[in-house]
Amino acid sequence: MIVPSSPLLPYNDPTLLFTNAGMNQFKPYFLGEEVPPFRRATTVQKCMRAGGKHNDLDNVGFTKRHHTFFEMLGNFSFGDYFKLEAIRWAWELLTEVYGLDKNRMWATVYLDDDEAYAIWRDEIGLPEERILRLGKKDNFWEMGDTGPCGPCSELHYDQGAEFDPNQKDPSEEGERYLELWNLVFMQYNRKEDGSLEPLPNKNIDTGMGLERLLAVLQGVDSNFHTDLFLPIIEEAERITGVKYDYGPGGAPFRVLADHTRALVFAITDGIYPSNFGRGYVLRRILRRAHRFAQKIGFEDKPIIYRLAPVVVEIMGDAYPELKERKTEVELIIKKEEEKFIEHVARNLPRLREALESARDKGVIEGEKVFKFYDTYGLPLDLIEEYAEDYKVRIDWEGFDREMARQKERAREKSTFKMEIPDWIVLDSSYTESEFVGYKTLESTGRLVKYAEKGKQVYIVLDRTPFYAESGGQVGDKGYLTGEFDGQSFLFKVEDTQKIGKDIVHIGKIVHGELPSQPVEVSARVDRELRIAAQRAHTATHLLHKALREILGEHARQEGSLVEPDRLRFDFVHFQQVKEEELKEIERIVNSKILENIEVKKEWMPYREAIKQGVMALFGEKYGETVRVVSIGDYSKELCGGTHVERTGDIGFFKIIKEESVASGIRRIEALVGFKALEYVESIEDTSREVAELLRTEPHKVVTRIRKLLDEKDDLEKELNTLSEILSNELFRRITPVSIDGITVYSASFRGLTPDVLKRISDKVNEKHNEKAFVVALATEKNGRAHIFVRISEDLRGRLSAKELVRGVSKIIQGGGGGSDLKAEGGGKQPSRLKEALNKILESVKNSFQGG
Ligand code: ATP
Ligand code: MG
Repeated sequence: MIVPSSPLLPYNDPTLLFTNAGMNQFKPYFLGEEVPPFRRATTVQKCMRAGGKHNDLDNVGFTKRHHTFFEMLGNFSFGDYFKLEAIRWAWELLTEVYGLDKNRMWATVYLDDDEAYAIWRDEIGLPEERILRLGKKDNFWEMGDTGPCGPCSELHYDQGAEFDPNQKDPSEEGERYLELWNLVFMQYNRKEDGSLEPLPNKNIDTGMGLERLLAVLQGVDSNFHTDLFLPIIEEAERITGVKYDYGPGGAPFRVLADHTRALVFAITDGIYPSNFGRGYVLRRILRRAHRFAQKIGFEDKPIIYRLAPVVVEIMGDAYPELKERKTEVELIIKKEEEKFIEHVARNLPRLREALESARDKGVIEGEKVFKFYDTYGLPLDLIEEYAEDYKVRIDWEGFDREMARQKERAREKSTFKMEIPDWIVLDSSYTESEFVGYKTLESTGRLVKYAEKGKQVYIVLDRTPFYAESGGQVGDKGYLTGEFDGQSFLFKVEDTQKIGKDIVHIGKIVHGELPSQPVEVSARVDRELRIAAQRAHTATHLLHKALREILGEHARQEGSLVEPDRLRFDFVHFQQVKEEELKEIERIVNSKILENIEVKKEWMPYREAIKQGVMALFGEKYGETVRVVSIGDYSKELCGGTHVERTGDIGFFKIIKEESVASGIRRIEALVGFKALEYVESIEDTSREVAELLRTEPHKVVTRIRKLLDEKDDLEKELNTLSEILSNELFRRITPVSIDGITVYSASFRGLTPDVLKRISDKVNEKHNEKAFVVALATEKNGRAHIFVRISEDLRGRLSAKELVRGVSKIIQGGGGGSDLKAEGGGKQPSRLKEALNKILESVKNSFQGG
């Protein structure tokens, strides 16, 4: 069976960062978790080795044979053919079909694998001096601490002494002997105690790097000089205007070519640059490419997105998804590049500053460096180079400590799981729970096991209508009831989760006790909540489709939450969704609801689904039966969730919010059914209330408010004129006193606003030409005391308005503040304002007589 490559985003395998070998997609077959639908398979698998257990990132550019992204050719046997055939066919393919020189071939086998050794020597006729026995590190393959494993045999090609005169055979490090193919003979099962037991069904897993094979076939000295890479390098030469150096100096070009391929393939497969996990690795790959572009003098300009079309040109026929998502992928890369360039430009000054101040000590703290690296996203080698410039040493120990801490934090975040205490198993024949909730919301099922933790109880039935949280849709709520020993019990289900093969009902016992034998219980899902969740789920599919229609194909799902009558949907988009666009999206969804289209749910082979144009949401397995939810011809998605019968059941769809959640990712929140109705009702209530306050009809509210605002403007203007007239009049009525050649205006009023006091002081200022005056005014308004003090500019240093106000704050029981020239105060004691003014006059007098 020729099986297509699985995506780079591993399916259902959180232990794996990226797909990194052909066998990944067959893991469940090797582990015996699933029965393979075929016994033999071959693949060309997209692989990425840039993080996790297999990480070749730092090699890229410097060896002739390592890439981050590469294609692995493989053949697989699931309990079918074994060692002899695998070796024979590999040999036949390389030497007879591809015509590689038999005299240049070497084989390695595992230390004690005499069987493989004998095949190479006797069946193939390879001379003994070209068969090496190597140890565990090279030639024994294991999936994990336990499970299937076995010896390997590698095929190496001798490229000639000129490649590396010092390397004498493939057991040594070097570039002369090129490992082409690795054949894994999965013949043991490693048990908990470390011992090996022979597998009843022996398996074969092989992997050969396409790029390495091609280099040999095209007779070139490096993978990078095959026609998979040269066109990219040539485009980079054209863009940068720099000539490619086929030797060590050409590393920047090789890095650019390699990393562009990795970015194009990964983003196409739905992995986006971000600050976490896989996305973070992509971000680092992009940044690394930029560092290398800088080394050839190409700075401050995006380049990778301009190389991306060449990758699509070379690979697009083999991987049509590259063509489909070309524009979007280029856009994502370009944005990320621009952001990074801007980022470096913005953060370099900070780094320089930090290094400048570290100069005296001669060392910069690891913590600080980590911050520049992690928080500010500056590449390490760039930080190092600048540190060298400033002759500042980096405290790497501190850096590593921070890095370890960060990893710990990330690990805690990703391994969070529901902790369930030990199960009390009532029925040992139970294997997995069957979900019957697509068709019914009530059924009976056998209570097979349960667990208790405090008040929280976990119950598993062999069959249940309760939907366990998945695909964004929340778990069902409801009740379980049963009888044991003549006593009935009632269990309230507050949430439902899937753990392994168990559908777990989580909740509390309302009355009675749980049985000690397996019993039949009746399970009843809260119908209203479930139906409301279904409305939201089908609406989510409509929204997803409408988004792509209006914003473009790039607007794909990034995350989704489906609750009763409420949904939250995250998708890829690089700017705010415009008001008109939102309206249009909302209108489309509602028009599909009005069309009352039938929502079909069908099970079919994955291949068939793809043929029907289903949106593949990455990682479904070939040969698998999938569930397709289609809404007429409008939307088709792979989905295990529960949905309404017809779109009309949704009722009404209302978007209530659009916002950004991360760079390049937007979020829409919407309501359906009753919640949407309630939302509109609450807006209506508000508008009615506003209308009542304005003494008008809801539809006239806007005109009315406009009119009120106009009136307010007019009133303010009038108030302004009146305040002017009033302050002029009051100013003239104050009789100033003279203290030491200074004119002092002091008066107390009732009912004036503090604003009028300030205006009066402006009159004083005008009259005295900004010289030699003190103003101290007070007013009582609405039972509060206000004081305003102002002194002329020339008195600065001799008097302080602020101090004068503070000096009386106790008297009026309040406080105050301002500047030396102008200050105001307020308090609860208007009856003592005169006393306060007198005290201010005293202080003025004292300060002049004193000075
Ligand atoms: P090497 O020792 O050369 O790094 P490996 O032992 O890591 O290779 P395997 O894990 O055995 O490689 O993978 C199977 C085949 O995939 C290899 O024989 C090689 O042809 C190819 N391959 C592995 N890693 C890379 C890579 N980073 N770039 C290109 N091809 C690779
Ligand atoms: Mg190997």
